[in-house]
Formats: sequence, structure tokens, C-alpha cells
Amino acid sequence: MLAMITPSGITYSSCQQLPGVVRPVLSEIQEYAPLMPEQTQTCPFCALHCDDVRVRAAARPRPTTRCPIAVDGYHRANLQLKPQVDGQPVSMATACRQAARLLARARHPLYAGLATDAAGMRAVVRLAERTGGVLDHANGDIMQVQSRLLKERGWISTTLGELRRRADLLVLLGTDAVSAHPRFFERIRAPQQHPQLEWVQLGGKPPGRTRQGTGRRAWRLDCPNDALGEVARALTLRLRGHPLPARRIGGLPASSIERLARKLSRAHYAVLAWEVARLPITQAALQVHAFCDLIQELNQTTRGAGLALGGGQGAGTAQTVCTWLSGHPLRVGYTRRQPQSDPVRHDWRRMLAGGDTDLLVWITAFDGGLLPELPRQAPPLILLARADRPPPPGTHIYIPIATPGIEHPGHLFRLDGVVVVHTRGGLRPARHPAAAGVLSRIEAQLPQTD
Ligand code: SF4
Repeated sequence: MLAMITPSGITYSSCQQLPGVVRPVLSEIQEYAPLMPEQTQTCPFCALHCDDVRVRAAARPRPTTRCPIAVDGYHRANLQLKPQVDGQPVSMATACRQAARLLARARHPLYAGLATDAAGMRAVVRLAERTGGVLDHANGDIMQVQSRLLKERGWISTTLGELRRRADLLVLLGTDAVSAHPRFFERIRAPQQHPQLEWVQLGGKPPGRTRQGTGRRAWRLDCPNDALGEVARALTLRLRGHPLPARRIGGLPASSIERLARKLSRAHYAVLAWEVARLPITQAALQVHAFCDLIQELNQTTRGAGLALGGGQGAGTAQTVCTWLSGHPLRVGYTRRQPQSDPVRHDWRRMLAGGDTDLLVWITAFDGGLLPELPRQAPPLILLARADRPPPPGTHIYIPIATPGIEHPGHLFRLDGVVVVHTRGGLRPARHPAAAGVLSRIEAQLPQTD
């Protein structure tokens, strides 16, 4: 990470500086914010984290934005659920005590889901360290593509602010951007004095009405998402001055590739954006490599950068907090007490399917429906979930938790990875504790070790 803007507005230039600086801020977090009638909130429900959402406090808060993801996220019911052990209601103290007992006995605990805020993620990393556990996010497969890219080749990335203020060409690769981030175009709309952004969509769903008013008319090229790497490689060839190898590439006529190559080379600042979740997962790594080669080529003569969309369900937050605490991106294990990164062995799906864990702790604070598919021979499940639905049958220990940005404040990382936002909460009376509080309580009941 190169830079970070904290809630106090200070920019830090390296990861090393972060823990010490942010720790005091995080430790000051109150579990619950005071109730406010209506306020401007930072929305926690996708990694765009719009900071201008007006929300009225209520049992079921309603935002003024029409963003369907935000409306659904804020407006869900907060059920009066009790903690449970084997389906029987128990007190919070009993549930935490039982969870600590199970964790103390487990030999290979797996902490997954990890859809929480920075304080929740800090608490779960501590717990994994104490219990020799493995950490992986619910969307670990998708996140691995981007973290491998960073490790294996590096990439030139940009931020939303740069895109808004400086870019004059946006190329969306295999995504419409708005399905996962409905207000994407609204948020990158530039003030009048800046150059209008022109954008091209290569593959992905047809454009929706939400994009209007973003700049000049869009140009859409219909190509299957599994051909995007091939098209990117053809564009790189053209930028290097080589002829195209065929008359049709990725289903597109050579004339369209030529035209797009010209647009890219004439742009002052082109941004290529993709969403790994929309790419075929078996090819995603190679495709993203091809996009990055194209960006690198652009930088020989003009300016280009990439923007990886996605990162919902606290994925960016989990990744960043894990990296600063362990020195590795996610799929970290503390099985030998020292943090070890293994993108294959620490895959939560593989561990469950292969019987490599004897206890699963699943955390999902934004969406109670984000649950793991369990194999027939599944280990016991400790579920910390948003109380928007009852726990699934078979949950061994269930603990309902509050949602950051609704009941309690929290810190979250935006999709461009350089901004940590503060979401205030205080939108309805709290019925359940924050994930960080529950995890710390469980940790406090673990037996002391040397
Ligand atoms: S685009 Fe994302 S962050 Fe913005 S309001 Fe919608 S869900 Fe929230």
C-alpha cells in the first residue's frame, strides 16, 4: 500500500506506519454510537463506500439514495434473536464460554467469512494467532487473483479520486461496474472544469440507465468475458506497432481493435477497470495479467492505470488488516504459530471439502445470508452473523452480531485500497454486540498459554 487517508485526513506513505497510527483510533471506538434522527452516513454495503448517504434512524432505517444494494442493506429487519447452543437459546456469556471451550479443544480451527469491519478483523486475527487458526475471506478465490498479481508481477493502480479528477478515458473490462456498485458513475462524475470522461465497455452486461450524464456517449464492444485476455493482448501488440494476428479477435473485428488501440494511445490518462468476480475464475489470473501488460505498454508513451472493482462484504478491509497484522495477504495460517501464507492450502472451501479443519468460525456482519456451503461431514460451526434471519439448522453455536454503519461505528477500506472510511452507525437501538466485542470476549475466556 502506498498511501492511506485516515479519518483525521492524514496521509501515510507505508504500511509499516499504519498499525501504530491507526491502533489508537480503533481502540477509541465505542461499541455503539448514540442514536441520531437523520444523518449523512458512509454506506458499508459495497466497497465504493459512498460517504454522502442520508439515512433516517428507525427500526428499519431507510436511506434516501435509490441504490438497491444500500436500500436492501439498511432496511433489513433486525430480529430479536438470542445466542444459541445446539439450537437452544442461551445467554451471551454462555455462548462465548462454549465457543472458547470449542476453540481451546480444536486442533485446526478455520476462521472464514470475515465480513466485518477493521476492529472485528483485528479481533479475529488475534484469535487465530492464539488458537493456531487459518484465516480466509468468503470471497477468497476472487481475492487471490488480485493478491497473486501483486506478488508475481506488480501493477499500476489508481484511485477513485484520480479517476474522477484526471482520467479522460475509462475502459470497463467485462463489467458494467454498476451491478456491484450501483452509484459508480455518479461517484466518479467530474466537476465541470475537469475534462469529460469518455468510456468504453468491452464485454460484460449492456449499459444501464444509471450511466447517463457521466460524460460523452459510451462505446460498447460485445465480446465474451473469456476472450478479454486475448483482446487485451491484441491491443498491446498494436500499441507496440505490430500488426494484428487475425481478422477477428475475441469475436471482434480487427477494425474495432484498431479503433480502441487508437483511443488508448491518444488518451492522456486511461483507466482500465475490471471486476475479477465477472471473469471466468480459471482464466482470471491470466486475463488480469494481460490487462496489466496493456497498462504497462500504455505507460511507455502516455499514462494508464488499473482499477480493480469488487471487494464487497468487507473483503478489502479483511485483506488490509490481515496484511498489516501478519505481513501477508489473506489465506494466512497460524498453524505453526508464525503466520504463513498459502493461497492453496488455506482455501476455506478446500479445507472444508478435504476435512482439514475440525472447527469452522464464520463471521458475516453485513449480510446474514452469506453462509458457507457445508459438506456432509462438516466440522462444528460457530456462526457470528447479522441478525436478519434465524441461523441455519445444524449451527452448533450461534451469536447474532450488529452491523457496522447501522448499529455501531466502524472503519472500512474502500475498493481502491488507499482510503479508510469511518461509518457512524447509531441508526437504531442496538440489540446485539459488535463482532469485535464478541470475539474479544471469546478470546478472554481461552485458557492462558505460556
Ligand atoms: S454504491 Fe455501494 S456504497 Fe454507494 S450507496 Fe450503493 S451500496 Fe452503498
